[in-house]
Amino acid sequence: MTRRESLKVFLAAGIWTILKGRLDAAQPSAMKDIENLQKNWKALLADGAKVPLPSEPLKLSKEEWRKRLDAAQFNVLREEGTERPGTSPLNAEKRPGVFVCIGCNLPLFTSEMKYESGTGWPSFFTTIPGVFGTTTDYKLILPRTEYHCIRCGGHHGHVFDDGPPPTGKRWCNNGVALKFIPKSSKA
Ligand SMILES: [Zn+2]
Repeated sequence: MTRRESLKVFLAAGIWTILKGRLDAAQPSAMKDIENLQKNWKALLADGAKVPLPSEPLKLSKEEWRKRLDAAQFNVLREEGTERPGTSPLNAEKRPGVFVCIGCNLPLFTSEMKYESGTGWPSFFTTIPGVFGTTTDYKLILPRTEYHCIRCGGHHGHVFDDGPPPTGKRWCNNGVALKFIPKSSKA
């Protein structure tokens, strides 16, 4: 490579780095951005949408849950089942809005917390604060962190440490356990 050619390569790489920085700007880069997403989640809630608070527990019997949920929802929420990857229409959901618990309507995530993990399950790098409890499960021998809705106790998924920066978390959620409320009904 001549000197002039290497200079060209060097410049192209520099321009690419700058462009890539611009492309990545949509993703939060600092923990401060994450805090803002958490604090301002209501900005993505549809006008007039009625949602409960985490502090209003919903306790139902197994039979009542069976009536309220369909078989797939019951299996995930009440029996810690896992849906087949790639089956949820919410994998492709990209509109602004809020994801709530299908069991009790508690808001759990916003569209700004979602990312494409490539796993086939709706994935989020953070959550609305205070909406999940966690336990450690050993179903696959290695310990995993199970998480469930703090209001109704419904199982939603597992949280892993291979998410994008700055949180590094991947909240891997069963789509069947979620309901999406778009910010605008026109979208
Ligand atoms: Zn719930």
